[in-house]
Amino acid sequence: MLTKEFPKGMSKASSIIAASTYPTKRREPETPETAGSHSAFPDALLAGFAASGAAIALFDPADRLVFTSEGMRRIYNIQPDCASFDDIMRHCHATRTGPRFSVDIETWLSNARQKRRSAPYRSFEIDMVDGSWFWSSETTYDGGWVLLFVTDITPLKTNESLLRLARDLAQQAADTDALTGLLNRRHVMSVFSYKTLEAGERGTALSVALIDLDHFKTINDRFGHAAGDKVLCHFAELAKQKIRDTDTLARIGGEEFMLLMPGVRLQRAVDIVERIREAVSRSTHVAGIDLCYTLSAGIAECIGECPEELFQRADKALYRAKQGGRNRTEAAR
Ligand code: GH3
Ligand code: MG
Ligand code: MG
Repeated sequence: MLTKEFPKGMSKASSIIAASTYPTKRREPETPETAGSHSAFPDALLAGFAASGAAIALFDPADRLVFTSEGMRRIYNIQPDCASFDDIMRHCHATRTGPRFSVDIETWLSNARQKRRSAPYRSFEIDMVDGSWFWSSETTYDGGWVLLFVTDITPLKTNESLLRLARDLAQQAADTDALTGLLNRRHVMSVFSYKTLEAGERGTALSVALIDLDHFKTINDRFGHAAGDKVLCHFAELAKQKIRDTDTLARIGGEEFMLLMPGVRLQRAVDIVERIREAVSRSTHVAGIDLCYTLSAGIAECIGECPEELFQRADKALYRAKQGGRNRTEAAR
């Protein structure tokens, strides 16, 4: 229940609270009449605010601090000579306490003045210098009085950032091939679809290569599965060195890879994959083992078709490369 007597209504419990906060400087609003009909909290309510440990402050229409609970005083390091919102914030800024300021204090205060009282109710997060987080809710009423409630949400924010981190790690794991660290089939297929449709719509170039290591089963049979794994990683590292940041290399099957080359025409794509093929065929050692391997590749440029058709054309070209004797690249027709 609100009375019309504020700030005279602070005579009992509220004056005790105010006195504990401002032993020498309790202030009355200068012209309460000009601010319209004022409201005050009953003494019992203010006493309850103080006893609860809740962080509450009340500002008059001129932004002078009229009441603050002990909890608020602690959070904002409010000193007895802090008589207004600006005083409090300047003191926080000077002592590096309270909220984190991303701009100089005068700019910050000017921004805050524009936002304060801009709506009957506003709520927002506050990032504090000591790493804690608070939720602030600001109610404006009766011609400019502002009641501020601040709640510690640090545990929630900590949970939120842990969840976000866990989600990001899970997402990364879901998108990544565990052996080579390349993107996996599931993820690259969605990138491939998106890029193909985008290239078709915009008329931009996009080439795709399907790369398959030759006689990989024989490598496993001769050198063991672990050596086969090392060959897969060797290829991934070598191919990454030959492509641009804008290209996407992914492992789409056991010894099968996809290279997406946005903005690249067919002949240049063939040249790029040829460079990779030559480098692979030149390497004679993989992880300390005397071992040679080769690859075959089919390369296709998007001609505005759907992703499935583009994939099929590259796959047919790969088939021809295998049929043609392996260790070669074939451009799609
Ligand atoms: P081609 O030249 O016709 O491609 O012959 P290939 O032997 O490479 O092809 P095939 O499909 O017959 O065999 C692929 C082999 O790749 C069989 C499979 O055991 C092996 N492979 C698949 N995934 C992995 C893996 O993660 N690690 C290892 N070491 N081998 C794998
Ligand atoms: Mg294969
Ligand atoms: Mg193979």
